[in-house]
Amino acid sequence: MYLFKRSSDLKKHLDLVRKSNKSIGFVPTMGALHAGHLSLIQATRQKNDVVVCSIFVNPTQFNDPKDFEKYPITIEEDIKKLNNVSTDILFLPSVEEMYPEGLESDLHYDFGDLETILEGKFRPGHFQGVGRIVHKLLDIVQPDQLFMGQKDLQQCLIIRRLLAITHSPVKLVVCPTEREKDGLAMSSRNARLSPAARKKAVGIYQALLHIKDNFGKGLHFMEGAHEAFDTLKKQGFEPEYVDILRVDNDTLVPLDQPPGNATVVVAVAAWLDGVRLIDNMILQGSL
Ligand code: AMP
Repeated sequence: MYLFKRSSDLKKHLDLVRKSNKSIGFVPTMGALHAGHLSLIQATRQKNDVVVCSIFVNPTQFNDPKDFEKYPITIEEDIKKLNNVSTDILFLPSVEEMYPEGLESDLHYDFGDLETILEGKFRPGHFQGVGRIVHKLLDIVQPDQLFMGQKDLQQCLIIRRLLAITHSPVKLVVCPTEREKDGLAMSSRNARLSPAARKKAVGIYQALLHIKDNFGKGLHFMEGAHEAFDTLKKQGFEPEYVDILRVDNDTLVPLDQPPGNATVVVAVAAWLDGVRLIDNMILQGSL
């Protein structure tokens, strides 16, 4: 595996790859890699000649400085894991490399209402930071395909928007959420849970499953979400939202009317043991 820390070196290398007519697949991450990340690498491997992964804990997408400081960093292990799944290139830039202009910026992407609901509501500025870093990374890597996880569904839709806004030819591929044996969605943040909280954390997955099982079976769809919110609270979570939404083109619309045949998802964010966990599930249709 090649490791690049400078974007100019990576660009030069990838120019040669493109000249030999090889396709490039790209997986951006923040490291502390788990099987969810590796499933994206494997999906990329299947569809592309050259697999590029980046590890960069992006400061501009953290609205909470404490979350940024506590974000797990496990570079040595990450490199081993990436080698094991035959990654071709790792891009490991510094903050200065990615933000030579500084962290403050007047740049603003118009993500519409998608930016003000769910994660956007509870993490102001988060998606502007995500947009800024993914835009920069795509300019450097210029992949044919970009692989992202359904675990961060709203982020996937934001990036779809970014690709449209920037008239990018890159194709976004959304990969399914990898889960632990008990159903908890894999996340780098799970490592920060105490053993007791880790056991409890499966409550989020169970709440999603309960909503899915009851969806369209008489219980009014919003009641299911309210019930799940209360159940999570009783279990010791501090839920921020449990929302049922319709996927409408590239946006999410809170479900206030029967959805017909539209794709419907339920999305959850909840704190447990000082760790913020998110998850979602498709209730009907497909992405
Ligand atoms: P992160 O390192 O958290 O920024 O995630 C990097 C990429 O991995 C994003 O596209 C995530 O959606 C994806 N990802 C994170 N967790 C999972 C998971 N459990 N299953 C599949 N993809 C995931």
